[in-house]
Amino acid sequence: MFNGIFIEKDDAGYRASRQSIDEAALPEGDVLVAVDYSTINYKDALAITGVGPVVRRFPMVPGIDLAGTVLASSHAHYRAGDAVLLNGFGVGEQHWGGLAQKAQLKGDWLLPLPSGFSAWQAMAIGTAGYTAMLCVLALERHGVTPDKGEIVVTGAGGGVGGIAILLLARLGYRVVAVSGRSTLHDYLLGLGAAEVMDRTLLAAPGKPLGKERWAGAVDVVGGTVLANVCATTCYGGVVTACGLAGGMNWPATVAPFILRGVTLAGVDSVYVPAAVRQQAWQRLAQDLDREKLQAMSREIALSEVIPLAEALLAGSVQGRVVVDVNR
Ligand code: NDP
Repeated sequence: MFNGIFIEKDDAGYRASRQSIDEAALPEGDVLVAVDYSTINYKDALAITGVGPVVRRFPMVPGIDLAGTVLASSHAHYRAGDAVLLNGFGVGEQHWGGLAQKAQLKGDWLLPLPSGFSAWQAMAIGTAGYTAMLCVLALERHGVTPDKGEIVVTGAGGGVGGIAILLLARLGYRVVAVSGRSTLHDYLLGLGAAEVMDRTLLAAPGKPLGKERWAGAVDVVGGTVLANVCATTCYGGVVTACGLAGGMNWPATVAPFILRGVTLAGVDSVYVPAAVRQQAWQRLAQDLDREKLQAMSREIALSEVIPLAEALLAGSVQGRVVVDVNR
């Protein structure tokens, strides 16, 4: 038996609880992992609360990220004792995930734990930080260098936004952090933002085109905020869009794209090929300030996961949260 978060849906409704789970019930996979740490991303919070249609099979163990040690493997690349990492691939959505003491997975989904990171640090980064890096890589791929101008980061108080600020500031960009929480002003400057902008300035429906300001953007919010970011992006600028914390709809016009040559670069982390994952983790090892990562992250026990998921969706969680699944 092992402990984990267990999501059930039946006539009694949708519910998540911490349970003792029978190892014999683990799904098929060629690698059995003893999980050391997991984390809570926005998607995990949607899954645990049932607010969003993330879970596609029941019962489900949530957790789109895990870091741990291989207990048994019939996969050619992994042996017992190897330190491994997993992000995405539908784990925690359609295959039992990382918010448990054990996970059985396909070895093809795993990465060796990147050198230079502990399991704890890898989960402080998690899908949120790895997605922030994918956004930075997309900006670079489209030629947005620090001399081109300011980068706006929305949802700055959360996980993706916070790590995007850390990365961009370290790489020499001038970062403007957009947040709905005035209490986070000093925290965001501490991460490296040059300026903090109140989210209300981007939250009301705006004109198809506004005053040009941004050379690039990392948007985790979607909705009207994303529409306004696109409308205020400079000629030839690049907007990376990875999230929907403010809504799935996108009430925008094509004006920024056809009149200013703005590029909207979509970023998905779940099914990114292995080579890009490795590149993103290599760049995280190179460019992420570990002290600041530690300072923006805190640890909770498995027993605290369910209330934390509710707080995260309520927008009251700051930075990143690592889960010690063994307590
Ligand atoms: P967090 O909850 O940590 O951060 C989200 C932040 O968005 C909040 O801290 C808040 O920042 C802001 N926010 C919350 N609610 C609203 C709202 N109603 N309107 C506007 N802003 C809001 O989540 P993550 O950083 O883990 O994820 C952010 C988004 O990115 C999510 O939508 C997630 O699904 C998506 N994502 C997508 C991935 C992909 O593969 N494409 C991978 C990872 C994440 P503040 O209070 O500072 O304004």
